[in-house]
Amino acid sequence: MRRSVDPGRERVWRSAWILTVAGEPLRDGALVVRDGRVAQVGPAAAVLRDNPGVPVEDRGDEIIAPGFVDAHCHLEWSLLDGLLPPAGFAEWLGALLPLRMRMLSGDYATAARLGALRALEAGTTTLADSGPTGAGAAALAESGLRGLIHLEAFGRETGAQAVAAAARTAEGVAALDAAVGPRGRAGVSPHAPYTVGPDLWAALRAHPGLSGRPWATHLAESADEESVIADGDGPLGALFAGAGLTPGRWDGPAGAGPVARVTAAGVTAAGLVAAHCVRLGDDDPATLARAGIGVAHCPRSNDHLRCGRAPLEALRAAGVAVGLGTDSPASGGDYDLRAEARACRDAHAGRLTLDDDALLRLITIDAARVLGLHGEVGHLTTGARADLTALLPAGRVTDPRAAVLDAATTVRTVVVDGEVLLRDGAPTRVDAADIRARAAEARGRLC
Ligand SMILES: [Zn+2]
Repeated sequence: MRRSVDPGRERVWRSAWILTVAGEPLRDGALVVRDGRVAQVGPAAAVLRDNPGVPVEDRGDEIIAPGFVDAHCHLEWSLLDGLLPPAGFAEWLGALLPLRMRMLSGDYATAARLGALRALEAGTTTLADSGPTGAGAAALAESGLRGLIHLEAFGRETGAQAVAAAARTAEGVAALDAAVGPRGRAGVSPHAPYTVGPDLWAALRAHPGLSGRPWATHLAESADEESVIADGDGPLGALFAGAGLTPGRWDGPAGAGPVARVTAAGVTAAGLVAAHCVRLGDDDPATLARAGIGVAHCPRSNDHLRCGRAPLEALRAAGVAVGLGTDSPASGGDYDLRAEARACRDAHAGRLTLDDDALLRLITIDAARVLGLHGEVGHLTTGARADLTALLPAGRVTDPRAAVLDAATTVRTVVVDGEVLLRDGAPTRVDAADIRARAAEARGRLC
């Protein structure tokens, strides 16, 4: 006998195609959502037969896919769309800093709300945000999205000062626990090896309030990073000197890159998500795999900042978990993981063949694995969270995977934990017009 379920918490979703990602596409498929999880998925006829009386949401010609998972983004930079043209890494950072200085404290919340709205409209259901204020926590909770909010740490403190700085960061992260909502988790991000010295990173790692939480960083992003953490010189060294700041310096033999230096310092824990990992030596993919570090691959940002092409084929061969991240509108991204996937295919053309299935996995099940959420999200199988996106193809569908990735296909409906957060393109929880008006006002002061 079936246990009784509140009728509002049980629903059949039916559509022309269902992509479970875990298996082959289902034509005329259906899935049952019960208490926020997928209770059954299969051919529509069988699912409807097994669930008489359960309300049916028939999406017609749409394609139901797992909600997309963004392995790395910055909700607080959503106001900077198009304000920073393509440039070398240090040059770009030098242009970002004055914009950041002009942002008022309330602008971070405004930006984070806009970022969460844009992610929702792009079909994302889970995101990993990193930012200096943690404003993403409230934005995530308000939107209803699932995610990890990493509070960024910066500093070159040593000794007792590093311990004190780590304690302040841990307090900041703990304060986000109340804001982030039931679908979020607060974590920490030592921003990058050039902005966080080894002593502060070690102190963060040792702080009991930060262990077991989500961790993220930026690692091996640019050639500028390599020279500044090894020798303190290069364009980033000049940028830091001009600002009166000391860059992070990490020990290592001549020629050792950021992955080798940071892992040799013993400051990383399994589960760390490293964004970029473009500048890798021959041994680095195996080092990342051994350390249990996952990689958020951000091809559009890497292109925008002239960082080069991440060796995705070597990372995959070494068994490193890799998912895609949109990074931020400040560096060419726009929270649209389907666009990131298309850019990924183009970036690796000639070196690595990524078919539509592989690309879809990079923005769903693979990204979930990177974030430690494998089994929960990124696929539509029995027991998984009912996080899904329904998309309307522009024309006749012969291959639903290709149709989902097609730019002409539109995101119509987004569901998290069985709750509809976007219905036919309109958010259900947040006021999109109000968010956009406030964001336009704030952006007007920045440029
Ligand atoms: Zn980033």
